[in-house]
Order: sequence, then structure tokens, then C-alpha cells
Amino acid sequence: MKAWENNIRKVTPYTPGEQPNQPDMIKLNTNENPYPPAPGVQRVLREMNGELLRLYPDPAAGVLVKAIADRYHLGEDQVFVGVGSDDVLAMCFLTFFNSKKPILFPDITYSFYDVWAELFRIPYERPPLDEGFHIRKEDYFRENGGVVFPNPNAPTGVEMPLEDIEDILKANPDVIVIVDEAYVDFGACSALPLIEKYENLLVVQTFSKSRSLAGMRIGFACGNPVLIKYLNDVKYSFNSYTMDRTALAAGVEAIKDEAYFQETCSKIMETRERAKGELKKLGFSFQDSKSNFIFAEHESCPAAELFQALREQHIYVRYFPKGRTGNHLRITIGTPREMEAFFAFLRKYLKKN
Ligand SMILES: *Cc1c(COP(=O)(O)O)cnc(C)c1O
Repeated sequence: MKAWENNIRKVTPYTPGEQPNQPDMIKLNTNENPYPPAPGVQRVLREMNGELLRLYPDPAAGVLVKAIADRYHLGEDQVFVGVGSDDVLAMCFLTFFNSKKPILFPDITYSFYDVWAELFRIPYERPPLDEGFHIRKEDYFRENGGVVFPNPNAPTGVEMPLEDIEDILKANPDVIVIVDEAYVDFGACSALPLIEKYENLLVVQTFSKSRSLAGMRIGFACGNPVLIKYLNDVKYSFNSYTMDRTALAAGVEAIKDEAYFQETCSKIMETRERAKGELKKLGFSFQDSKSNFIFAEHESCPAAELFQALREQHIYVRYFPKGRTGNHLRITIGTPREMEAFFAFLRKYLKKN
């Protein structure tokens, strides 16, 4: 080993779901929205004046912050935006988790949390989910350096009732509690109203899933103006111009079109409920999902085998090989047609074996 290698920050990076690119593929592996973004998004992209790109964008992302604040009836000083909620969450870890005590998040959850904790050298502990993949709120009723969890949780899709979230908040007045609501728009209950009551609560959401903009990278956090100010201080100490002109324009259009948002979310929820019935008929079991995916295990066919068989047909789902999730597949809800092709294959395959 060279001497200079001693001073390198060595990290094990997060592994994103693969992004295959076959014309005939059915892509149910990274929880993207199967519907295109709102028509207004496509219009502003067509009409963009490329000449303006010589100028820096607004570092405060004012138009987008205002559009989000208006949509959720908040003050502009209660909203922070970033390059996807991954960027927002990373900024939150950096800003709020500086205690020597461990932060807490579930053992089975979004696999970026431990990566950021390692990157920023934040101590952490991971209380295990119960047998049914539910978060046990009591595990968070002890001394800690902060709390973060998704609601609904990923990759399980399980929702935690708002009363339980409030119990966690009541038990943790001295640390920041982050609720990552990447999937909340697919039928779960948002903790947003609680930010008025709990000054230590941050609610993080994204445009990647329910607003069909994974490729644009827009996420946001809502909370007390004091928390938002601290977040902005850290952001401006790192990269002032996070949101580019295209993202600002597209984001505003996406959040303005409430009707399109409601319509596409409802379609996905409807498809999800039908998919639950089909999966049961095929011998799968799963916890009830309030997200745009279902985390399911088959009664006889191992997940690794199914994952591979689907892959050979260019049907992509997500598989987390290790530990308690090792026999589950996470299946993103696609269009009714995509789901029908997925089920048609499973019917044939599972009969054959
Ligand atoms: C998808 C996802 C995110 C990040 O999404 P962005 O595309 O970065 O906005 C954050 N948390 C969870 C739980 C997710 O599933």
C-alpha cells in the first residue's frame, strides 16, 4: 500500500438498481413511475431557451420552493430543495447528525442510510423490524443521536401509522427525526401536518416516484424554518447552485398539475391492488403495501431463481440477496399492460416448476 492511501476516505458505495436498456424490457426494478411526467413538464422542456444556460440558476431555487410551499400550504421558509431526495437526505445527515450517540434506523430499510452514516462517520444502530416487517416504535424510545426512517418503509412497503410516528416524536424531543416519504403519495398518511407541532421533525419527499421525474433529480424537505435555515447554511457551504434551470422549470410544472398527479397516482394504486390479488393467487405472500411496489416471497420458488428467470425474459425486478430479505422480490408497479405480461410469465413459469 502506498503511503498516500492511508489518507484516502474509503467508502463502500450504495448500489443503485441496474438501468438496463432493452427496447422490449419490462422495468419493475427501481420504483420509477410508469407514466410520463405532467404535460406541462414536456412543454417547458421543448420551449426552454438554451441561451439562458450561460447564466447561473437562482441559488435559492425560489420558483420551485414557492411552488412546493403553495402546494402544501407552507411558508417558503419551511421548504428546502435538492438534487433528488438523496441529496436532501445526505445534506440532512451532514447538518443534523453530529452527536456522538448513534442515530437509529431500521435494519431493513433504504440502503443509502448506512452508506451516508459511514461516509460522514456518524455512529448508527439498526433496530430490527419485527417478524411482519413492521417498525417497532419502542425501539426508538431510547437515547440516540437522531432518527430516520422511510414511511412507507422501503423495500417492504409497510406503512407506520401516524400515531406511532407521533409517539416516536414525543420520545425524541432532543434530536432531529427525519421521515423519508418517498412513497407517501401512493396512499399512505403524511407526517407533514406534524411539522407545525414538532420543531425537530423533517419530512422529506421526492419528485422521482409520484411525479414521474426520476431523471430530473428533485427532492425536498419540509420543517421548522430554523431547521431549513441550518440546512441551507450547509448547502451553501458545499454547492450553492444545486438546482439547474431545467430542473427548476420542470419541477414547477410538475407540482402545478394537481389533476395529472392525482390521476396517475390513482392509476398506480388501482394497478397495485389488482396485483396484490394476482400475486396471492400465484402463491406469493407479502405485507400490505402502501407504495408503488410490492415486496413478495413465493411459497415454493426461491427468489434468486425467479429473479433470474424473469431477467432472461427482460423483466426486471429488484432482489436483495442477503439476510432476511433474501427470499423476497421487490416488484415495482408498472402499467396494467406491463403487469399483465409479468403475471402471464409467472403463471406459465410457476406451473412448469
Ligand atoms: C427512491 C428513494 C429515495 C431517493 O429518491 P431520489 O430519486 O433521490 O429523490 C429516497 N428514499 C427512499 C426510501 C427511496 O426509495
